[in-house]
Formats: sequence, structure tokens, C-alpha cells
Amino acid sequence: MNEDVYHEVDRYIEDLFGPPDPVLTAAQDRSTGAGLPDIALSPTLARFLHVLALAAGATSILEIGTLGGYSAIWLGRALPPDGRLVSLEIDPEHAEVARRNLAEAGLAEQADIRVGDALATLAELGREGAGPFDMVFIDADKPSYTAYLDAALRLARPGTVIVADNVVWRGEVASESDDETVAGLRRFNAALAEDPRLTGCLVQQVGVRGHDGMAIAVVTDADAG
Ligand code: SAH
Ligand code: MG
Repeated sequence: MNEDVYHEVDRYIEDLFGPPDPVLTAAQDRSTGAGLPDIALSPTLARFLHVLALAAGATSILEIGTLGGYSAIWLGRALPPDGRLVSLEIDPEHAEVARRNLAEAGLAEQADIRVGDALATLAELGREGAGPFDMVFIDADKPSYTAYLDAALRLARPGTVIVADNVVWRGEVASESDDETVAGLRRFNAALAEDPRLTGCLVQQVGVRGHDGMAIAVVTDADAG
């Protein structure tokens, strides 16, 4: 298949929804200017995440992997004014850029960016009695995805929507590669598929970022949380 057509269709989809939002454009420019890696969600997939958050009626969202706050802005914009977004980031420089971007987006009140290794911060959130969250978006280091899923389930309730990015990894998850990232994603995908507390699916996606996919699951068992 021709990758050009993926890009073309992604541009077509972006165009359908009108010219780029100046706040998002400025956030992307600030992230690029600060030297952050170019690995945020594409506009089309960020919109997809935003629609999922709206469909879930989310008033509290947990994000694991903030980067410059691009997906956080889309998630934050799905919240009601008194909603809350907690986003976890290990790199203080990324967090700094994200705080600025969220403030410029008018989301400083709703967004709480926590710096540290997400596994430690997730344990801390548990001790604080945070949650249950209505939605969890997993998008940090891939080898830890299964541990993030366990932590997400502890901070969830029946009905919580759990989404994870990059679970197809250019199609490599369908191979038995021993690459740490691919192996981590395969463990995560199997855990999600087998967990009796979850009803989920994996959706493969193509677009300006190539071939990848998201896992989407709903907590369907009352024993979760
Ligand atoms: N969700 C963002 C992209 C996140 S990129 C968006 O679409 O806009 C992944 C981020 O996870 C990076 O900023 C990286 O620093 C962070 N990260 C990697 N390992 C982490 C860890 N152990 N704990 C918390 N964050 C981590
Ligand atoms: Mg990602």
C-alpha cells in the first residue's frame, strides 16, 4: 500500500474540521522549539481521543506520558469546567513545556502535571485515594504498559475507559520480535485481551504518523478499582 494516500487522507480529515487551532499550533511550535521529540498524537488521532473522552462523559482523566501536553489539551478540552486531568511525565523539561501549553490553552486549573517515574506517581495517587478516573490514556514507555494497566485498574471503576497508544508499532506486534518495545506491547495487548475485568479491542490506524494503533477497553467488572 502507498503511504502517500494515508497522508493525503489524514490531511483531508484535518481539513474537514477546519483550519488548525492557533492554541494547538502554538503548543506544537513551543514543543518543537524546546527540542521535544516529534511523537505527539496526530491531529486526527488526538481528535479521536477527544471524542472518546466526550463519549465516556469523562470528568476525571488520567494520562500517563505528557510530553508537551498536546494530547493533554485535547483531553482537557473534553472536560467540563470543574473536571480534572492528571498527567504523568518523567522528564521535568517536558512537563515544563506542557504546563505552559496547558496554561495557554486555558486549562491550568484543570490540569495537574506530575513529574516522576509514572509507576511511582501511580502508587502515590493510590495512597492519596485519587480516582476513580473516568478515563485513562496510556502513552509512556512501552515496556511498562502492562504495569500501567494494572495501576490503571486500581484507579478505575466499572465503566472507566482505558486507551493505550502505539499498540501496533508499525505492525511489528504481529511478529515475535524480541525488541523490548515490541515485547512490552505484546505483553500488554495479551494482558488487555485476557483480563476478565475488561472488554476491549485493538484498532490499527494509518495516517501522517504511519501505521500504528490504539487499544480501547472498558472496565466491565465491578471488582475493578
Ligand atoms: N501523550 C503525548 C505523547 C507522550 S510521548 C501526546 O500525544 O502529546 C511519551 C512521554 O512519556 C515522553 O514525554 C516521555 O518522557 C514520557 N515517559 C517515558 N517514560 C516515562 C515514565 N517511566 N514515567 C513517566 N513518563 C514517562
Ligand atoms: Mg504515543
